[in-house]
Amino acid sequence: MIVFFGPAGVGKSTQGKLLAERLGWFWISAGQLLRDEHNKELDRMMARGELASDEKAEELIEEALKKASGYKNIIVDGFTRRLGQSKFLLEKSFVYGQTINIAIVLDAPREELMERLKLRGRPDDTPDAINERLDLYYKEVGPIIEYYNSKGIKVVCVDGSGSIEDVYDRVIKELTKCHLI
Ligand code: AMP
Repeated sequence: MIVFFGPAGVGKSTQGKLLAERLGWFWISAGQLLRDEHNKELDRMMARGELASDEKAEELIEEALKKASGYKNIIVDGFTRRLGQSKFLLEKSFVYGQTINIAIVLDAPREELMERLKLRGRPDDTPDAINERLDLYYKEVGPIIEYYNSKGIKVVCVDGSGSIEDVYDRVIKELTKCHLI
């Protein structure tokens, strides 16, 4: 299992989907699962840039983990966003016979993220929601990375700036180093 971290707009889902397409891995996006719920209350929270409850996100991730059995590898994007979720993922990965092989932290300058999000124009890509999401991300990510480190999970930082293919090549380089491909 590969866990992707990164602020909004850094390309977690773009890279996750590409890996899934090209390597035949299973892609799980917490944000996509939450959007697919088409739940008004959830949509409102997301539009404000707030996080959904741990319970809801965890329920959806667990369902997805069940569906992923049989795949060679799983890419998890946008989960975990709070420390409690990290503990949950570690526990559940054991339950479903998975190992968290690596956490990849993508990052790019805030100005580049803002530009990309303006172009994407999702309902939660308003300036206020973007700022809320970025502030939240930078507040939560430190303890999460420390937690994974303390559990012996390799955490690598990858430069998420530049073109999709450039970032993809950097990701592939890290996965190759870890003998995951
Ligand atoms: P994303 O598709 O990763 O940009 O996520 C879009 C939105 O979905 C976030 O701003 C949150 O509101 C919500 N979301 C995504 N992942 C989680 C999570 N792990 N826990 C709670 N809310 C989440």
